[in-house]
Amino acid sequence: MTNVYLTHYECALCRRAYALDAVTYTCPHCGAVGTLDMCYDYAALRRAVTPTQLSGFSMWRYAPLLPINEPAYFPPLHVGWTPLIAAPRLAAALGIRELWLKDDSRNPTGSLKDRASAMVVARARQLGISVITAASTGNAAAALAGVCASIGMRAVIFVPAKAPPAKIAQLLVYGATVLLVDGTYDDAYALSLQASAEYGWYCRNTGMNPYTTEGKKTAAFELCEQLHWQVPDVLVVSVGDGNIIAGQYKGFYDLHQLGWIERMPRLIGVQAAGSDVLVHAWENGIAADAIQRGGTQTIADSISAGLPSDRTKALRAVRQTGGAFLRVTDDEILAAIPALARNSGVFAEPACAAAYAGLLKALEAGLIRSDESVALLITGGGLKDIGGAMKSVSGTGGYSVGRDFDSVREAVARLQLA
Ligand SMILES: [Zn+2]
Repeated sequence: MTNVYLTHYECALCRRAYALDAVTYTCPHCGAVGTLDMCYDYAALRRAVTPTQLSGFSMWRYAPLLPINEPAYFPPLHVGWTPLIAAPRLAAALGIRELWLKDDSRNPTGSLKDRASAMVVARARQLGISVITAASTGNAAAALAGVCASIGMRAVIFVPAKAPPAKIAQLLVYGATVLLVDGTYDDAYALSLQASAEYGWYCRNTGMNPYTTEGKKTAAFELCEQLHWQVPDVLVVSVGDGNIIAGQYKGFYDLHQLGWIERMPRLIGVQAAGSDVLVHAWENGIAADAIQRGGTQTIADSISAGLPSDRTKALRAVRQTGGAFLRVTDDEILAAIPALARNSGVFAEPACAAAYAGLLKALEAGLIRSDESVALLITGGGLKDIGGAMKSVSGTGGYSVGRDFDSVREAVARLQLA
């Protein structure tokens, strides 16, 4: 059933309130830029739920704080309760007190997007809908395909025909229906909306579906609980459509309203220099509904977004927490992949390594003090993009040896290994 403490939707832009049965996706007054918050009666929730009541070790541990808390709707794949990894060597090298890596690449399809897909699929089951659609070229689509496969629900995914084959492979293996659009991601997005309206398919598109934020907020819940209900001073998150940073903000906001944490962390959003409209908006004080479509040129395809669908909530997340938006170049992103992996053991995809590159920028810019603790959100695993990974280590390839041990001895001597 629906959480009894869930009260209404509120537009993140105009603050108009809507009854739970009055809207499905975005604010009817504002249109696509008016993404919706799901609002709870925090006073009542605070009396009814305490941390000691949480049970199970997946994202559904937080069912009392989610819009749907009926286990019959939860898909069986294990999503969430990903590890929080200490990175003391990196922290020491960077000159900060503590660094934590919230490793969401451990989710079943390899990215944080599994949290949103699981939440949306639970909602579709509650609504009695049997087909879900989405437009995506990457992790969100794979997450939807995987979660749908776990319960036998049909996923219809619109992808640009020119999408990299590796991204499409995961969808096909999970058995999603993949419609290859002869056009751009924007064209695919528009078609998925039209198909949703025409056929009554439930649309998972990031940001426009408010349940995506509610699913993603569970990463922030876990981060706080894993730190014994403390928050880091700063959370650094890479940003494309803006829905992940929006989800983290919502998670911290919920816990703060409940009194489970004492303060909100500062949220630092990191964009690729070739796809940076939110950085530009933040630097120039531009309102979310005045943002113009920008570029999409970056190696980090998961954060390539010309007009971020959740721009309203993403800007709010940074502005309300005293955070910042930063841009990093593709070269900085590539350098960040091995730098993070070699000093922590965590192998991130380019879009996620961007957060580490952003952390370096934030330190240079004096946005983080040496006595502060920092968490990085590891949003997707490095095996998602082998091409990007290989580029990041070009020039440092392996060493060829023959079948005889002499050539090994020679290599060992040359490399001064012994
Ligand atoms: Zn509105």
